[in-house]
Amino acid sequence: MGWAIALHGGAGDIPLSLPPERRQPREEALRHCLRIGVEALKAKLPPLDVAELVVRELENIPQFNAGRGSVLTSEGTVEMEASVMDGATMNCGAVSGLTTVVNAVSLARLVMEKTPHIYLAFQGAEEFARQQGVETVDATHFITAENIQRLKQAKEANRVQIDYTQPIQNDSKKETPLASGDSQIGTVGCVAVDGDGNLASATSTGGLVNKMVGRIGDTPVIGAGTYADARCAVSATGKGEAIIRGTVARDVAALMEFKGLSLEEAANCVVHERTPKGTVGLVAVSSKGEVAMPFNTTGMFRACATEDGYSEIAIWPAAKIE
Ligand code: ASP
Repeated sequence: MGWAIALHGGAGDIPLSLPPERRQPREEALRHCLRIGVEALKAKLPPLDVAELVVRELENIPQFNAGRGSVLTSEGTVEMEASVMDGATMNCGAVSGLTTVVNAVSLARLVMEKTPHIYLAFQGAEEFARQQGVETVDATHFITAENIQRLKQAKEANRVQIDYTQPIQNDSKKETPLASGDSQIGTVGCVAVDGDGNLASATSTGGLVNKMVGRIGDTPVIGAGTYADARCAVSATGKGEAIIRGTVARDVAALMEFKGLSLEEAANCVVHERTPKGTVGLVAVSSKGEVAMPFNTTGMFRACATEDGYSEIAIWPAAKIE
C-alpha cells in the first residue's frame, strides 16, 4: 500500500534516432509533470485532483498532442477531447469536439460534477464551457506551426496517423518516416492512487493527425481510453479505433476483477495479447500502489513514481532515463 502515480505523453512509432533537441524537451516535461503529481500526492490531494492537475500541465505543453499542440483535422482545425474517472465513486466525465477550451480535462471534470450527464460534445460542450466560465481562447491559439506541417505531410501521404510512420487506413505499402523525423507527439494521461487506495484517471488529446472532422477517438470514451474503479486506474494511448474495439482500459480492470490477475498481468495481457501490435500503450496503477506501463508500439513517453521511492522516466522499452 502507498501512493503511486504514472503518466504518459503518448505511444507510437518513436524512432530510436529521435534527435536530442526533440527528445530532451519532452523528457523535461515528463519530469516536471511527475514532480507536480508527486508533490500533490504528498500534500494529500485527492487522486482525481492530482490526475487533473498533471493532465492540465501536460495540455499546456505544446510538445504533446493535447491542449495547445493538438494535432489538426483534415480541415486544419483542432477538435480536442478528454475524460476523467474517479474510482471510488465510479463518477466520470467526458468532452469532445472542443475548439476553444484551454484545458479540456477540467471541462470533463465539470461535466462529471455539474451535469446529470457523462459526456458532452461539440457545440453543447462549448456552450457548457462558457456557462461554467472556464478559460477559452481563440481556436488559433492551439494550432502550432509543427502541426500545420504534420497535417501537410499526412495529407501528402494520404493517411490518418498517431505519428508519422504508422498508417491507420490506407493501402499496405511501406510507410517511411516523415522528413522531420518528428513522430513522437502524443495524447497525455495520468493515473494516481493515494495511500488509502483511492484511484483516478484522466486522459486528454487532440486525436489523430488528418482525422475527419467529427471523429471521436478512445480518449473520451470511458472504458476505452480512460477507466478507474476500486482496483485500478488506467489511461490509454495509441490508435483510438483499436483501443475502442479492445475496450482497453476496462479490460485491464475486468481481468483483475473476474480473473484475479495482478495489475501487471492484466495490463500485459490487454496490451500484448488482446490488442494488435503497434496500436496501444497504457499507464495503470492499482489500489495497492503498483504501477504498470506496457506498450506494443516502438515507444511511449512515460513516467511514474511510487511512495516506496521508485521513479522512472522512459521512452523506449529498455531506455530508462531515471
Ligand atoms: N488515442 C488517441 C486517438 O486515437 C491518439 C493518441 O493516443 O495519440 O485519438
